[in-house]
Order: sequence, then structure tokens, then C-alpha cells
Amino acid sequence: MKITVLGSGSAFSSTSRHNSCYYLEAGKEKFLIDCGSDAMRAIQDAKIDFFAVDRIFITHMHADHSAGLPAVLTAMHVLERKSPLTVYIPFSQVEFAESWLANMFIYNERMSFNISLLPLYPGVVEFEGVELEIFKTAHLEKYSEYAEGLGIDPLSFSVIVREGAKRFFFSSDLASLEEVKDKMDEGVSFIEATHPALEEVAALSGGKNIGVYFTHIPMELEEGGEWRRELKARFGIEKLNSVSDGQIIVL
Ligand SMILES: [Zn+2]
Repeated sequence: MKITVLGSGSAFSSTSRHNSCYYLEAGKEKFLIDCGSDAMRAIQDAKIDFFAVDRIFITHMHADHSAGLPAVLTAMHVLERKSPLTVYIPFSQVEFAESWLANMFIYNERMSFNISLLPLYPGVVEFEGVELEIFKTAHLEKYSEYAEGLGIDPLSFSVIVREGAKRFFFSSDLASLEEVKDKMDEGVSFIEATHPALEEVAALSGGKNIGVYFTHIPMELEEGGEWRRELKARFGIEKLNSVSDGQIIVL
């Protein structure tokens, strides 16, 4: 399994970090997890072939995880992609995504390739040589009251990718690390560092947490940032085990 970090930034992308986007090669599959607002540039910067991607999985519809989708699909059309592409959207928001793309004039009758939008549910999705296990998280529950008024289900997911004995866990956005604390035992885990408390980030840094890497890095956690100073002063943490855009991890 090969993981290429295309976007390790938080909701604010920066000159060094794009919004959430990861390219995975596992089994016979090549796919993106998340497609944040600047995913097209992230894909170009990492020199990933737009034609190589078979599927795109969106963990939730926050713009820094999903808003790059129309631009990536348009880029594929401009490049005259022919092979079909499947995009997995949190299950309650597939109709919205269909309408969203259609309103950007992204529809199969016009595009150079066929796009299938499929609902992403909690549970296991299997492909040749690889399986994805999808878990619901509490990241968007803070919007429940507002979302209910609009008839929107505030869905957000974490994912475990398995290829034989190889295992990659991507937390995506969370309410707290509590909800995924039992998911980081084996393989490699990418844990988002924007929403959990600093105490939780500190507890996962160094020591036995050898396969745990932080991602979704906010400016406050960059070198010299306010949270980095706090991590050092309060918890003695000098180095945060974080990933960078362009980094490749092979399992
Ligand atoms: Zn989010």
C-alpha cells in the first residue's frame, strides 16, 4: 500500500499545505480520500496522473474536504479522460452532490467520461485486493440542530483501508480523539490535529505511538505557532510527528 499526502492542511490551506486530500494505491485500486478546495493544484503539485484515479471518497462535505471535486472532475474532462470514475459521497448528501455538480454543468451527457455518484455508508466497501471500513464520527454533530431544521443529516466518516495485513487508518475530522482511540493500534494512522484538545495531541505524540502521524495541521501547530509553543511548554513536546504535502508512506 502506498499513501501519498496531497493535502495535509487545515481549513486554511497555506503555501506549504493544501486542504485535505490523499492518494492511495492499494490492491488494484488507485483512489483519493477527500478532495479539498485546492485538490486540483494538490494533484498537479504531486504529479499524480489525473487518469490513474479510479475512485474518490469524500469523508464529509466541509469545503476543505470536498469543494475541490468539481474542479478535479472538470480538469479530467479537459484532459479528455475516458475511463469511468466513481465518487462516494456521505449517503444523505448524494442528491445534493448531484445537483451541485449539475449546476456547475458537470453531467455525464457532456463530460468525456462517466461519473457515478454512490452513497457512502458506515460498513465495509470491498474492491479487488483492498477493503475500506467506514465509521461514523461525531465531528459534525455540533450542527445537529441547524442541520435538522434544513433536513440535512450531518454525516462525517473515518476510514480504515486494509490490503492483506497492511492497514491504514485516516481519522478525518473528529469531535475528540476519544471516538477513535481504539483504531490506532496497528499499521499507520493519520490523525487530524485541528479539533482535538492539545492534551489529546500531546498524549499521542512520541513514545509508543510509532505509526501515528498528525495531519490537518492548522497554522497554530506549525513551527513557531501558538499551539506548538504550548505543546513544548506544557507537555515538553519538541517534535510533532506530522505529515507534509508530497510525503509518501509505503506500508
Ligand atoms: Zn470538517
